Amino acid sequence: MISDYVNKTPKSKLLYIENKHFMPYGVSSNYRYFDPYPLYLVKGKGSRVWDVDGNEYIDYNLGFGVLEVGHANEKIIEVINDAIKDGSIMGFEYYKTGTLAKMICQRYGLDMVRFSSSGTEATMHSIRLARAFTKRKKIIKFEGHYHGSHDQLLVNVNPLKPGIKTPSSLGIPEEIIQNTIVVDWNNIESFEKVAKEDVAAVIMEPVAMNMGLIPTDKEFLKTVFELSKEKGFLVIFDETKTGGKFYSGAAGYFNVKPDIVILGKAIAGGLPLSVIGGKREVMELIGPGKVAHGGTFNANVLAVNSAIVTLQELLTESAFYHMHRLSEMLEMGYTDIAEDLGVELSIARWGPSGSIYFSESVPKNYKEFIKLDFSKWFTYFYVMLSSGVIPMGGFNEQWTVSIKHTEEDIQKHIEVAEEAIRKAKEIKTNMP
Ligand code: PMP
Repeated sequence: MISDYVNKTPKSKLLYIENKHFMPYGVSSNYRYFDPYPLYLVKGKGSRVWDVDGNEYIDYNLGFGVLEVGHANEKIIEVINDAIKDGSIMGFEYYKTGTLAKMICQRYGLDMVRFSSSGTEATMHSIRLARAFTKRKKIIKFEGHYHGSHDQLLVNVNPLKPGIKTPSSLGIPEEIIQNTIVVDWNNIESFEKVAKEDVAAVIMEPVAMNMGLIPTDKEFLKTVFELSKEKGFLVIFDETKTGGKFYSGAAGYFNVKPDIVILGKAIAGGLPLSVIGGKREVMELIGPGKVAHGGTFNANVLAVNSAIVTLQELLTESAFYHMHRLSEMLEMGYTDIAEDLGVELSIARWGPSGSIYFSESVPKNYKEFIKLDFSKWFTYFYVMLSSGVIPMGGFNEQWTVSIKHTEEDIQKHIEVAEEAIRKAKEIKTNMP
């Protein structure tokens, strides 16, 4: 319950009151705010984080999916402590960046890559690149998919009225989004209607992870690739999240070759690094006097060294085996809870991540997602928090298991979740 959260977190409340005077909502990203005030964290280690009140949490948010290597991973600390002795930004190119580029190309099946620092920058550059390559303007995106915080794709990310094209922020002029087309996820018919010869690219989260976790219909994905070939537009996989869920990301998992792939979050072990990669003929358009791509902090020394060790030594095949196995235990735990308590609960899992919905079945797209009963979800969330488990980053997020989580962590999660779902069950729904 919200009151348990408030009782446990008086210092977070105080910090919020002070911080909001100097920072809107007292946070540095809208996604860190939740009612009645955000949680302020002090430190993390392995699968745990601690807040300003000294409360310990098992963390399944992991920086919105970044920290699959766990918080304050010893190897990462060692590598960046060593690297910083030689400086953090070179200005000109750092000599190890090519090593990382080759490693990523081989692992993710890409011909060439460029680096940025965030998912937002990478998707922004990717649509520019697609437009330059195809000499077309229109970009198709899916409702409920999030591609970062830049104007052109910040459309129908979380609309209150699904199906009506609306910017997902104040301050985005209509003209800016006039070349953005929004359609339903997993819906072949609605995609077929817009897949025309004037489209530059379709961008997607290959598994939707900004409306919980919505699995991908393989027939739908096949149609997208077929139509892109037929009509001559590019397929962009925004793997900011999915790229860290399987060894070779979603493209490897689905065995497809998108024209452009974006990577981010987990691949650099907690440091800011993102990737725009893809087919040679597309990537070669980037360059002076051609497609602009820049960034002072791109492929900085710390991020490059951290990414190399993350990919080479930490996020290995056996690490994925561990994360997937524990995540499956969590899925089974939730399934048992639903059965034991007789609660309408559906669970979706993909690799180390998963989500729960208070509904009979997992939604297939945003329209189905937004109809769900979130009053139950929020009761569940506050009980989890006040019992020492951060189950996920928000109602539209998912759990992630790291290489540092243990079976005991999973058991504790399931124990606490049982109580949280029991309480949620008692809540009278707000739904009409
Ligand atoms: N794409 C996807 C699929 C994401 O989930 C996110 C962030 N959650 C982004 C892009 C934006 O990444 P960043 O916050 O690093 O800009």
